[in-house]
Amino acid sequence: MNYIATIGLEVHVQLKTHSKMFCECPVTFGAEPNSHTCPICLGLPGALPVMNREALRMTVLTGLMLGCDIAPVSKFDRKNYFYPDMPKNYQISQYDMPLCTNGSVPLHDLAYPKDAQKNIATPDKEVHLVRIHLEEDVAKSFHFENSTGIDFNRAGTPLMEIVTQPQINSPEEAFAFLTALKQILIYGEVSDADMEKGQLRCDCNVSVRPEGQRELGAKIEIKNMNSISGVRRALAYEIRRQISVLESGEQLEQETRGWDDVAGETFLMRTKEFAHDYRYFPDPDLVPVETDVLVADVREHVPELPKAKRARFVEQYQVSPYDAGVLANDLELARYFEAAAKGAKKPKNIANWILNDLQNALSAAGKAIHDCPIPPEALDELVNLIDTGKISGKQGKEVFAEMFASGKTAATIVKEKGIEQLSDAGAIEALCDDVIAANPKPVADYKAGNMASLNFLKGQVIKRSKGKANPRLAGEILERKLK
Ligand code: ZN
Ligand code: MN
Repeated sequence: MNYIATIGLEVHVQLKTHSKMFCECPVTFGAEPNSHTCPICLGLPGALPVMNREALRMTVLTGLMLGCDIAPVSKFDRKNYFYPDMPKNYQISQYDMPLCTNGSVPLHDLAYPKDAQKNIATPDKEVHLVRIHLEEDVAKSFHFENSTGIDFNRAGTPLMEIVTQPQINSPEEAFAFLTALKQILIYGEVSDADMEKGQLRCDCNVSVRPEGQRELGAKIEIKNMNSISGVRRALAYEIRRQISVLESGEQLEQETRGWDDVAGETFLMRTKEFAHDYRYFPDPDLVPVETDVLVADVREHVPELPKAKRARFVEQYQVSPYDAGVLANDLELARYFEAAAKGAKKPKNIANWILNDLQNALSAAGKAIHDCPIPPEALDELVNLIDTGKISGKQGKEVFAEMFASGKTAATIVKEKGIEQLSDAGAIEALCDDVIAANPKPVADYKAGNMASLNFLKGQVIKRSKGKANPRLAGEILERKLK
């Protein structure tokens, strides 16, 4: 029996605002616990929230980047439940009038896990969204041996919740969705989307059903995933588990599970009978938001997105679609490439240097592109020296290594080492004449049709030049002279 998996994701994204959602406290990571709090984010009686315009702007921008409909009027509601890390006993969220609805995230080949890129079930799939809304984050609990501490620095920080349609059908597609979404969020500078810092957190709803059955199976939710590879592994485990339950003739029921990353297993947290009733109602302290002015302004500032950038790199710089994909995958790498390639005669060669030598050197040195010791203009200069025959490709590798180690420019290194390639036709011509005069036998062999003799003669020219003669030019001149 074949089974079909149906997956929907709820993604919480921490926005990169300077201050919290409803107060002036700064948003920081790793500050001294409870150093960034005030009566509003501590939920003290009588404190009144004030909306953060920047958080609204970032959510609207995300909506526009993902092709959502932006609500002309949106409002905030109270979501009531008791939890120790929520000081007010309600979370300000959005219930029936979220800022954004619909929209989609396009998946692309390089967003899939490496080992799955050759075997993509639905190429160029788009995962449609239900909605994007804005809410506030809760505080964070720390469990010690005999007590629990709560850090309210995170309480009240802006959180954007993105809910997908149940249109994802495999753990690999879920991985690709999160990777593609993360890229877009970084492009829009709305979040760094670093899952290790909890800036992107994900709940997964997953059900399985036998092929041919129309009705979806029981929905099981896996809570609080905090890595993209963890999401993939948890879903793979959960799909296998659900299939084996069904195969053994048992029923599955709606439930909430957690993921134990070390054991590689999901575990039961609660069943449906403990489902919350949140008793939503409009927050009486906050007025509804009219979005028309904001939307008109944000629309002017929607950045070029990964998909458009990939297409433009192919068109403008004649790089392969694959190379364009790798470059556009990382916004900083894409910016580096453009800075190096904008004046280059052969931008494709720049891309090759970045994707091979530069990336290898960076990973060997444990560096990221933003602390690359070779500025983009300097790489362009090096590639230009090679493309114009001033130095050979082999010399280029040496110069590159030296540039990476010392930060000196290519021209300085070439001058210091005296490795400039001899591309002066007159000088090479004189060397060729000497070599022809000194080697009558190979010359005769070549004239009799032995092509290998030409290589020997070329070798002699390069030797006489102490390795500096441009081999291509030497070959051309010899051929001409021996015609
Ligand atoms: Zn505060
Ligand atoms: Mn939420």
